[in-house]
Amino acid sequence: AHRHPGALVLEGVTRRFGGLVATNEVTFTVPGGELLAIVGPNGAGKSTLVQLITGFVRPDAGRIRLGPHDLTRLPPERISALGVARSFQTSRVFPGLTVLESVLVGTQVQLIGGGRLPRAFNTLAETASVLFGLPAYAARRRLLEDRAEATLKLFGDRLWPRRDAPAFSLSYANRRRLEIARALVAEPDLLLLDEPTAGMNPTETGELADLIAQLHADRPALTIVMIEHKLQVVRQLASRVIVMNHGSVLVDATPEEALADPRVVTAYLGR
Ligand code: ADP
Ligand code: MG
Repeated sequence: AHRHPGALVLEGVTRRFGGLVATNEVTFTVPGGELLAIVGPNGAGKSTLVQLITGFVRPDAGRIRLGPHDLTRLPPERISALGVARSFQTSRVFPGLTVLESVLVGTQVQLIGGGRLPRAFNTLAETASVLFGLPAYAARRRLLEDRAEATLKLFGDRLWPRRDAPAFSLSYANRRRLEIARALVAEPDLLLLDEPTAGMNPTETGELADLIAQLHADRPALTIVMIEHKLQVVRQLASRVIVMNHGSVLVDATPEEALADPRVVTAYLGR
């Protein structure tokens, strides 16, 4: 019963940091419901794209739209309220929160919409204490907890048995899973995953890839943009791949075409 979010459209998106062009006139469209993988060497501008789409970084030029909404100049909390959720490349610790509470933080966008908290998710402990004190939270607590529990259970027995443990006690791989759970519990229309399998062993990687495949199958309206280095995962999941290099889109093609492209091989080998 999800409305269709429409396409994510980037048009000529450029962002400089000092003299460095992190993204250089990046243009691409992700149709609603597609799973797009972004690959490319370190420093190619992949994480900057996620920062730009989520409003944590503003473009110097270009436009970013999601369906009818122009995201280009919106602050992060307004963008979250429009149904955009993301995981971070480096998992952040959730000081003082249990695993379940950390996931519940992800429901805040639906309670407060945009704007009432200073910077969504920037200070998680503050965000959580504000959230759990809201009358709107108290009124919907059972419902939100049920949803957080269901989200934890998506990860099999990885997170659910640890729901009451402090989040900081989780293993590295479980912190990555928690990041994704926190993003999913907001029931986003657009999910941005920045190297979700980074640091995971092959078993953990395969398990997470299967979970993402399941999400993609179960939620046809959910658009997923995934930065992923592991080409096995890209082949398994993505219907389309964008290869970034030095801030520019080098190739925009199917996984088979992209991974066989000589320019891609050259970019990866740095020649
Ligand atoms: P990737 O995720 O593809 O490895 P990033 O998007 O993180 O690459 O970075 C692209 C380039 O922009 C890098 O050279 C990086 O050092 C630079 N960069 C990213 N964010 C910032 C920032 N906040 N300040 C300065 N430079 C940045
Ligand atoms: Mg990165």
